[in-house]
Amino acid sequence: MLGLMQRRELLISSIIVHAARHHGEAGVISRRKNGALVGASYADIELRARKLMGVLRDLGVQFGDRVATLAMNSDRHLELYYAISGMGAICHTINPRLSVDDIGYILDHAEDGVLFVDPGFLPLAKGAAVRTPSLRAIVVLGEEAEIGTCNPPHGKAVYAYETLMSQAAAAPDWPEFDENTASGLCYTSGTTGRPKGVLYSHRSSLLHAFGVCMPDGIGLRATDRVLPVVPMFHVNAWGLPYAAPMVGATLLMPGRQLDPVSVLRLMNEERADLAVGVPTVWSALLAHVRATGARFDTLKRIMSGGAALPLALVEGFEKFGVEAMQGWGMTETSPLVTANRPKPATVDAPADHACKQGRVLFGSDLRIMGAEGESPWDGKTPGEVSCRGHWIASGYFRHQDNILTRDGWLPTGDVGVIDRDGFLKLTDRTKDLIKSGGEWISSIELENIAASHPDVAEAAAIAVPDAIWGERPLVIVVPREGRAPTPEAIRTFFEGKVAKYAVPDRVAITDALPHGATGKLLKTELRRIYLAPKA
Ligand code: AMP
Repeated sequence: MLGLMQRRELLISSIIVHAARHHGEAGVISRRKNGALVGASYADIELRARKLMGVLRDLGVQFGDRVATLAMNSDRHLELYYAISGMGAICHTINPRLSVDDIGYILDHAEDGVLFVDPGFLPLAKGAAVRTPSLRAIVVLGEEAEIGTCNPPHGKAVYAYETLMSQAAAAPDWPEFDENTASGLCYTSGTTGRPKGVLYSHRSSLLHAFGVCMPDGIGLRATDRVLPVVPMFHVNAWGLPYAAPMVGATLLMPGRQLDPVSVLRLMNEERADLAVGVPTVWSALLAHVRATGARFDTLKRIMSGGAALPLALVEGFEKFGVEAMQGWGMTETSPLVTANRPKPATVDAPADHACKQGRVLFGSDLRIMGAEGESPWDGKTPGEVSCRGHWIASGYFRHQDNILTRDGWLPTGDVGVIDRDGFLKLTDRTKDLIKSGGEWISSIELENIAASHPDVAEAAAIAVPDAIWGERPLVIVVPREGRAPTPEAIRTFFEGKVAKYAVPDRVAITDALPHGATGKLLKTELRRIYLAPKA
C-alpha cells in the first residue's frame, strides 16, 4: 500500500521559489570587480532567474543541454545556478584556475553550447573556446562595456549578459520534471588522467542541501550571514548556494577579491557570522589579523574543508573567539559527508580531536576498507575510506569505468581510521596527487613533462608539506648521461605547460631514483629521503 501524501519532485527551483516567497527580504550581497557591493534579494534573484530562462531559450538551450560557467561567486552566478538547472539544462561550472588546455578539453567533453564568463576570464574563455566545436556563444557577465574590444572567436557569438537580460521576458513559471534529472556538472582533477565529470541531480543536490543545513552539518538558519570563500566553480561551493536560500540565510559573495584584506573587510562590513573555505585561506586570514591587530567584528564560526585543518589554526581562531570546524568530502560526494561536531562522548575530548575530519551526516555512510575487509572502528586500524548515499556519485559523465565496489560503495583514495565514536581521521592518500591550496596537481603529469625535457632521463614528483598551501610539489630528476641541467632550467620548463599553481617551486637533481622489484618507482622511499627532518 502506498502512503497518501502529496508527491512533489525534489527540484532545485523549489528552493528559490521558497526563498523568494518566505525570505524575500534576505538575499545576496556581491563584491563587483570595482570593489562596489551590490545587493539582490531572493525575490530579485528568482525573478531574474526566470528572465534568464528566457535568455537561455533564446540562445537555443534545451532540456538536458550543458551550459558552462567560468565565474567567481556572485549574484549573477547564483541566477545561472537556478535558471540553468531550473529549466532542466545542466549547470556546468568550470574552474578558471585550470590551464587553457584543460578548460578546452572539459568544454569539449561536456559539449557545452553556451559559456557564461566573468569579464576577467574572457581571454581564457576565448583561448579554450577555439577547441570546442559545440560552443555557439560566450556571454560576458556584465554590461556591454565589459566586453571591451573583443574579437569573437571564429564561429562564436559574444554577448553582454545585462543586454540579453534587459531584452528577455521572464518565463511565467518553473517547469516540473523528474527529480532524478541531471542538474549540475563539475569536473574533478582529483583522479588520474584527464579531469572527469561528476553529474549531480536535482534530488541529490536538494537532499545534500538539507544535510548542509542540519545543525551538525554546516548548520544554517535564517539569521545567518554566510560568506562562501569556497568558489561556486568547485563542488557547487559545498552546496551553500542551495542551502542558504533554503533557510533564508544571507550570502556574502566575495567575487575575485579573495585576499585576506578583502575577505576581512567583507566579513566585518557585512557582518558575517559564518565563513566557509579551505585551510590556506584561513591561515592567510589569521596571519593578516595577527599582523595588523584587526579583529573579527561579528564572525562566530569558520568551516574548513578540502585539506586537513591544522590544530594551530583551530587554536589561533579560538583566541579571536571564532570556532574553527572541519568537514570532509570530495567532488564525487557533493561534497559534505562528515563534519566534526561533538557527540555527548566527545564534548570534553582533547584539543586535537578538532583535527579529525568528523562523523557522518545522515544521508550518506562511510567505511574504511583494509586488506581483510572493513577495518574496526578502533582509531588505529587504517583502511581506504569508502562512501555511499543519496549524494554520492555512481559513475563519471561519459565514462564507462565502474567506480563502485560490487556492493555499491565508492572508494575515495583517502586512507584513514575511524574511532569508536565514529569520527574519521585521515592518515594518508592512495591517489598519486598533490593538493596545493585546494587545487589538485597530478604528480604523473609533472613527471611526464619533466621526462620530456631533453636533458632528463627520469623524473619523480612528490608532495612536500607546506605551511601555507598544505602541500607543494617537489620534482626530482635524473639527468641524461653527459647532461647537467640546472634545477631552474627544469622548473621554468613547466611554465605554460601546466596551471600556474602546478609549476613546482623546487626541483632536485639526483643520480638515481629508487625502484622496487617490479621496476615501480618507490615514492615511499623518496618521501623518506626528501622529507626526512633535517638533523
Ligand atoms: P576535491 O574533490 O577536489 O574536493 O577533493 C577531495 C579531496 O580533498 C578528498 O578526497 C581529500 O583527499 C581532500 N580533503 C577534503 N576534505 C578534507 C579534510 N577535511 N581533511 C583532509 N583532506 C580533505
